[in-house]
Amino acid sequence: MELQRNHQPFATVAPAINAQGGHHRVSFWHETVDIRPGAALQGEQRAQVAIVGGGFTGLSIAYYLKRYAPELDVVLLEQGVVGHGASGRNGGFAMPLVGWDLLYVVQKLGDAQAHMAYSMMYRAVAHVKTLAQRHAIDCDLETTGYLMINTCAAREARARQEYEAAQRLGFDHAWLDARALQEHIRSEGFLSGIYDPHPCILNPAKFARGMKTVVESMGVRVYEQTPVERLHDGKPIAITTPEGVVRAEQVVMAVNGYGESLGFKKNRVLPVHTYIVMTEPLSGRELEEIGWGAKRTSLETARHFIHYFRLTADNRILFGGEDAQIYAGGALLDSDAGIQESLKERFREYFPALKHVKFTHGWGGVLGVGLDMFPAYGTGGDHGTIYHACAYAGHGVSLSNYAGAIMAPPILDKAGIALPGDAIDEAKPFFYNREPQWLPGDPLRYWGMQAYRGALRLHDWWQGA
Ligand SMILES: Cc1cc2nc3c(=O)[nH]c(=O)nc-3n(C[C@H](O)[C@H](O)[C@H](O)COP(=O)(O)OP(=O)(O)OC[C@H]3O[C@@H](n4cnc5c(N)ncnc54)[C@H](O)[C@@H]3O)c2cc1C
Repeated sequence: MELQRNHQPFATVAPAINAQGGHHRVSFWHETVDIRPGAALQGEQRAQVAIVGGGFTGLSIAYYLKRYAPELDVVLLEQGVVGHGASGRNGGFAMPLVGWDLLYVVQKLGDAQAHMAYSMMYRAVAHVKTLAQRHAIDCDLETTGYLMINTCAAREARARQEYEAAQRLGFDHAWLDARALQEHIRSEGFLSGIYDPHPCILNPAKFARGMKTVVESMGVRVYEQTPVERLHDGKPIAITTPEGVVRAEQVVMAVNGYGESLGFKKNRVLPVHTYIVMTEPLSGRELEEIGWGAKRTSLETARHFIHYFRLTADNRILFGGEDAQIYAGGALLDSDAGIQESLKERFREYFPALKHVKFTHGWGGVLGVGLDMFPAYGTGGDHGTIYHACAYAGHGVSLSNYAGAIMAPPILDKAGIALPGDAIDEAKPFFYNREPQWLPGDPLRYWGMQAYRGALRLHDWWQGA
């Protein structure tokens, strides 16, 4: 395997490091942490495991490797700063969702595998909470639960089937009728919903930066401002950066939606963008007007292109979704004015009482999506020593933070290191050794995805969702 970085997709975004050597902030979350870019890799180094990408995936794999094998020599290379990618921009919802939804997983894989997948997802959500607690990561974590809201009859009928599936599989979801819904949120268009008490929300940039400190304290060498320009597979694998080289026995590509820019999983993981807008802080009275004061539940509407909304620690409303976009040539974007304006319009439709509220922030980012919406973990390369963990679609917060529980066991096995007796080994058949389905390249892919996206949007509109 040979990888070479293509700079073209980055032509549409500002560099992660600005002209003054500071971090170029993209999201509101980036403004809440003091991010000082760390030193770049210089010269030649050796490592048993090199991790490319400093998002939740890379951090989680580094964490688990060092937890199970403290003597292992691990280096992590990040092009900008840890948390510059999706991990420092997302909505911060840690959810048990995989695929499109539970019903989709049941229909695709059957009850037994759906139960297995969702049970692991709940362990992943719990793991995020445990990490924050165990390492005292100050990340505004709140277990708010998660409410999926039906806004039309067709979606309500599907949600009933989803609820029945959850009941059958033993998950403790609750069905909320219109009246019960009003204890969480009030809007004319909201008909009913399914409530799951376990999901939590957090400030993702604070969490990523906290995890950076944790893995560094465990001995991981983290280099920021270090884009991988080339990778040459071999024994060892040679990774070239602008001022250095790492020769590693095993490599984890933890680049998710950025993989295409390195030619990694180019025809399998789609670089899909999603966007968020955020309001100024709201007063208690304003929140009370829409019934959102007491429970602070995190919310999502049931449609192909969901709307997701939550409160921040200082009572801003984060509102995201509405559309998702892939750009010609795999271009990367930090914001999309059209989609962000549509989000604001939709917000005012849901909550006319808040139409005076100002939006102070808007941003977006790239995430990896496979055609079937399932995540993919596994190994490849000429010697089976180049690993991937990606394609979480819009649900990566819990999954990527649990990537180490799936990836560390096979990596340590290859290194000839036995797992400790209390190790968690989640490298189970369903999640491990999966490749996202193959897709044709541009322009066929671009136009194919535009048609697919258009069809989904049309269906949402047709259903009135
Ligand atoms: C706007 C938005 C909202 C989202 N909301 C949610 C949500 O609420 N809940 C949820 O579950 N999921 C959400 N997601 C998805 C979630 O954020 C991702 O699935 C998750 O963060 C993926 O983590 P990662 O580490 O795999 O990828 P990333 O965080 O993208 O990390 C990849 C890293 O690789 C680095 N990199 C790229 N190329 C190179 C190179 N050549 N050399 C070195 N480093 C490189 C990048 O700079 C980046 O830091 C959202 C995503 C976005 C964009």
